[in-house]
Amino acid sequence: MLKNILSIFLQPNCPLCERATTEEICKYCQKQLKSHQLKDPKKSSQGDLPLFVWGEYDGKLKQAIAALKYDKSPQIGELLGFWLAESWGKNYLINSKIKPLIIPIPLHKAKEKIRGFNQAEIIARGFCQGTKYPLNPKGLIRIRQTKAMFSLTFQEKGNNIKGAFKLGKTLEKHSLSRPVLLVDDIYTTGTTFKEAAKILRDNGIKVLGVVAVSSPRHL
Ligand SMILES: [Zn+2]
Repeated sequence: MLKNILSIFLQPNCPLCERATTEEICKYCQKQLKSHQLKDPKKSSQGDLPLFVWGEYDGKLKQAIAALKYDKSPQIGELLGFWLAESWGKNYLINSKIKPLIIPIPLHKAKEKIRGFNQAEIIARGFCQGTKYPLNPKGLIRIRQTKAMFSLTFQEKGNNIKGAFKLGKTLEKHSLSRPVLLVDDIYTTGTTFKEAAKILRDNGIKVLGVVAVSSPRHL
């Protein structure tokens, strides 16, 4: 009896609403999050990078991504990555026999140190658990600190990200026959993805496209 009572108090709380839950996020918040899921996850993007997005960056999903990044709640990222994988599996954009290498958009190491982790990497882990695709968390390295994108004009964004990435050492032995899929938490203008894809393509690596947990409605 006492053990049962104690177990109620020892249950971790939902990182989004503080209710006691045995799951990463409580059922109530999961339902709210799923209301943001897009019916059509295939989105058009600029250039030749097909884009796949799980949900609309708004309301509870926006809150969840902020909690993932700033409240140090990586379990949210794993769950979102897993949902992204479920949606991907239902909407096969590529031949299901192709198993692309998953590379998250990297943070600069100074920023990653402050945050404790790279949220894109956590999402990519959840995505790879669901898809069984291989993951290379350090396939790309961010070599330059960049300014927050939201404060910049379109032109400035392009200049801000230029030369920000290089290939990770772990990717030097990459088989060119295996294509890459890039993963991040939010897709906005696509300038970051474009720059990341350029570095890979300049090195002869095929980039299939990009997958993101969320993007704003106007896209
Ligand atoms: Zn909750």
